[in-house]
Amino acid sequence: MSLKDELFYQQKSAYEVMSDTDKAKCFAYAEDYIKFLSASKTERLAVKEAVKLAEAKGFKPFEYGKKYKAGAKVYEVNRGKALTLAIIGKRPMSEGINLAAAHVDSPRLDLKQIPLYEDGGMALFKTHYYGGIKKYQWVTVPLELHGVVVKKDGTSVEVDIGAHPGEPQFVITDLLPHLDANQAKKTISEAVSGESLNLLIGSIPFKDEEVKDNKIKLAVLKLLHDKYGIIEEDFLSAELEAVPAYDARDIGIDRSLVGGYGHDDRVCAYAELRAILDAKKPEKTAVCLLVDKEEIGSEGVTGMLSGSFDRFVAELCKTDGCSVYDCFANSFCLSADVCNAFDPNFADVSDKMNNAKLNYGLGILKYTGSRGKSGSNDASAEVVGRVRKLFADADVVWQMGELGKVDQGGGGTVAKYTARRNIETIDAGVPVLSMHAPFEVVSKADAYMTYLGVKALFEAK
Ligand code: MN
Ligand code: MN
Repeated sequence: MSLKDELFYQQKSAYEVMSDTDKAKCFAYAEDYIKFLSASKTERLAVKEAVKLAEAKGFKPFEYGKKYKAGAKVYEVNRGKALTLAIIGKRPMSEGINLAAAHVDSPRLDLKQIPLYEDGGMALFKTHYYGGIKKYQWVTVPLELHGVVVKKDGTSVEVDIGAHPGEPQFVITDLLPHLDANQAKKTISEAVSGESLNLLIGSIPFKDEEVKDNKIKLAVLKLLHDKYGIIEEDFLSAELEAVPAYDARDIGIDRSLVGGYGHDDRVCAYAELRAILDAKKPEKTAVCLLVDKEEIGSEGVTGMLSGSFDRFVAELCKTDGCSVYDCFANSFCLSADVCNAFDPNFADVSDKMNNAKLNYGLGILKYTGSRGKSGSNDASAEVVGRVRKLFADADVVWQMGELGKVDQGGGGTVAKYTARRNIETIDAGVPVLSMHAPFEVVSKADAYMTYLGVKALFEAK
């Protein structure tokens, strides 16, 4: 070995490291992930799909007051939008848990609470976007509608239109280039306004001589009433989400990538889920946490700031005769969330040396944040050292990343909220191209390495 080989840090593509067998496993994993992502276009659907997969692997609903034995597999759904899965470890809770936390909400368009109106011979739904979107990306994209309507009598109906073959879909129109003289002068963030993100939903008027106006709105309401038994007032207590209406699929002539809606952060959510489904009897209790609301600051009763997670762990501690504070102090968390992948089309936003690259494996971010790491968890050297050893022992291909060059922008994850609970935490996730767009791209190798990384944590000695 030359002195240079000995002293220089050499990064390698996962494809230079993986054997043919590894690559086959990686591609099979990606096929399963594509199925999961296509079935999980909202946080509620992602939780439902995850529970289905977990139950098939022997996970049972968590029972408060019950003392569980090592190897027991349990799960708890938080209000239909977040999910905790755990395998009880051989070691006591006082020695801590190995935690992986990802989020299952993604940027999207929510219907407003009084959404329906008629204008220019069309019926439309007004929306209020959820999470950080580039609004111009969401026009002229086919959309489907999912969610729940709670009626006055307390009963609820699930709405699901556009996902299945033959069903109608929705779209937001854009201005033709022939007439965009004024729009073209605006900045990219002003070119499509939030109040113009209105979903086209119908155009046939209700046939009745007596009705003088709003005939199209009436016809749309009648169709919704016939199908779901709802009236206009019921939108007040509804959560309806418009999301891209296409399934995830392979991208690239070599099929090395996956394109789809909602990789952020379902690509990490799935990695965690598969890791806990496949984990062999863990030493420490392994916990997979899939939370909601990350895209709007982790607030709310189903977000990472909710006490729901603390309650779950505190209960395991209580039945094990220890304090939840002792447990947290000895716990370790991979905050599994996506980072940006280096994009040659926008090279100037990154420091190429420090930015995560496609196919170079699971991206570890010591820090995120913006303007001098502000708002970041900024993991310690000791914590980074710990994951280096963990991944080296388990042959996980990983890379260090950074969310853009200094002072370019930035972002955050749930990492600071697990750290706030006195749990050692580091950001770890899949590099993404076109993050928060209606069609994002990830590498199969990076997705697979994230699964191997989380599994290594769950199975750590
Ligand atoms: Mn995310
Ligand atoms: Mn995000």
